[in-house]
Amino acid sequence: MKVGVPREITPGERRVALVPDALGRLQKAGHEILVETGAGLGSCHHDAAYERAGATVLPVDALYAGAEVVVKVDRPAPAEIDRLRPGQALVGLLQPLLDPGLMERLAARGVTAISLDAIPRTLSRAQSMDVLSSQANIAGYKAVILAAEAFGRFFPLLTTAAGTARPASCLVLGIGVAGLQAIGTARRLGAVVKAYDVRPETKEQAQSIGAQFVTLRTAIDATGAGGYARELTPEERAAQQAELNEVVASVDVVIATAQVPGRRPPVLVTAEAVRAMKPGSVVVDMAASALGGNCEVSQAGQTLVTDNGVTILAPDNLPATLPISASQFYARNMAELLLHLTRDGALHLDMDEEITAAVVITRDGRVVQPAIAALLGAAPGAGPGSQPGAAPSGPAPTAARARRGRSHGVAGG
Ligand code: NAD
Repeated sequence: MKVGVPREITPGERRVALVPDALGRLQKAGHEILVETGAGLGSCHHDAAYERAGATVLPVDALYAGAEVVVKVDRPAPAEIDRLRPGQALVGLLQPLLDPGLMERLAARGVTAISLDAIPRTLSRAQSMDVLSSQANIAGYKAVILAAEAFGRFFPLLTTAAGTARPASCLVLGIGVAGLQAIGTARRLGAVVKAYDVRPETKEQAQSIGAQFVTLRTAIDATGAGGYARELTPEERAAQQAELNEVVASVDVVIATAQVPGRRPPVLVTAEAVRAMKPGSVVVDMAASALGGNCEVSQAGQTLVTDNGVTILAPDNLPATLPISASQFYARNMAELLLHLTRDGALHLDMDEEITAAVVITRDGRVVQPAIAALLGAAPGAGPGSQPGAAPSGPAPTAARARRGRSHGVAGG
């Protein structure tokens, strides 16, 4: 099978779907790799490295003409959709729940759309394909690095002849994949770290990597389906907020990562709480998007400094800012999925198999993923080979999670 790796064209995107190191196993399985000239430059993977790894480097027209499967990071832009032809497969972070119309367009073009963010995350055999986790790890790390850069003091305790610097105090809100990585990174930089989540099981996880778990007087257990959180009731929110405001005002740095599948991210850092923070404090809102974020005053994609001197960052597409590591992880996830979906060197989509049923969104000219078909008002899974109801129900997307990993899931866990 010929696998094509085009250059990503979304502004600011520096990742690439396959790196040279990931090609060996695919080639061993009988696949030929085509790479667009310059596709890996944003992540420092030069054409010569792809050629040394056995790939053919060629211009974009030849790539789309030759590839049977096109592998990407971001959703395709209209110009990229125009290049796809019937019978071709497209694999990437397609975010079908965020943009079901795109799936309809791909189906109409006869393209088999396969979405990496629809991997059922709770299946242990799917973990090596879990791109939401691999990219959230990167985002959690980078959020702390950005906070340290914006913070006017040291993170660690430092004793010097010129005086002693006390360590920064850092609060991580949301102890999922990104939050755990943020805790670990802030601890490695020497900060004193507190962490908070509404899922009680996160307490031990946070403590095991050196954070102090914040236990509110109003105990809330908001464990939802599949290891995710549920949305809080208005009463729970009010109780939580009053107590959280005190904690927020007491720390130097807040890293906010809280998400609820299919809902707007919860506001955990109110404007009032920001007003109570000390000058020089920093908030990184990883949940921020056009829908809102964890911080009431953050603006997606922007950095603000409030009247009381608090810096609020709401960075966009954090994984793309660490493109080498992000591409390496992404490529590993991509290669694992491709190997899972192929047999004897060709695409083999067994729709009775759980991972395949979750990730294949369009096939044979139809939207076959039931959740997406339902969103489009079509008969769910009406297409040949579809499995009505077979796709695992999982978190609907939020734009914020998309920003964190430039992606979002149909299924999750
Ligand atoms: P996420 O991005 O959906 O949310 C981040 C965190 O925000 C979660 O821990 C959530 O509980 C928390 N949160 C939501 N509302 C909150 C509120 N009001 N106040 C405070 N915190 C709030 O989560 P994620 O990182 O995608 O992972 C979610 C879960 O999925 C975790 O339990 C993770 O371990 C699990 N997971 C499992 C697998 C697997 O089984 N293979 C793989 C990946 C993730």
